[in-house]
Amino acid sequence: MQNSTLWRTLLGVDKTIVEAVDLDADTGMLVASVRPTASMRNRCGACRKRCPRYDAGDGRRRWRSLDAGSVQIHLEAAAPRVSCRVHGVTVAAVPWARHQSGHTLFFDDQVAWLATQTSKSAITVLMRIAWRTVGAIITRVWADTEKQFDQFAGLTRIGIDEISYKRGHKYLTCVVDHDSGRLVWAAPGQDKATLETFFDALGPERSALITHVS
Ligand SMILES: [Zn+2]
Repeated sequence: MQNSTLWRTLLGVDKTIVEAVDLDADTGMLVASVRPTASMRNRCGACRKRCPRYDAGDGRRRWRSLDAGSVQIHLEAAAPRVSCRVHGVTVAAVPWARHQSGHTLFFDDQVAWLATQTSKSAITVLMRIAWRTVGAIITRVWADTEKQFDQFAGLTRIGIDEISYKRGHKYLTCVVDHDSGRLVWAAPGQDKATLETFFDALGPERSALITHVS
């Protein structure tokens, strides 16, 4: 197996070229320099359509990836801006992370899954992130999940959780499918009205199929 393929697999990135991998002696972090493959370059961060390049943006930036053992891994790449006809001047999309996220897709997904399975303190210690970051990640993952598939199909046993972030000033209501462990819905707020929004989205027929709520 070629080194580049090995690194791509290890870093969990797709449509990405790994240019170099270095150990930062000061921080002990592994930094992988990457770039999108040709077909993924110059795409709008919001809609992923191909757009003319605008400028180099703020230069190179980093995204936190999943750790390898105890070593933190960061991806580093140029973050040019493109000019989208719909979204204006925006940072170009990258195949390894969601728009405006400082974490890779795998990192986001692992945090979102952990939020449905374990305690706040366990996530922040295990993933080495602040609790407010967890709230931001769940919001992003949810926005993606909602677009992809009917998250309500076959829902019978659900769990409802309130997550507070921003030092307890902001709340997210999360609904989890107990059978799959999947996050099926999330919205800012922690009151009855927030939860009613969920049941409205679910509709009367599918609401009738819910047998357990915890
Ligand atoms: Zn766009």
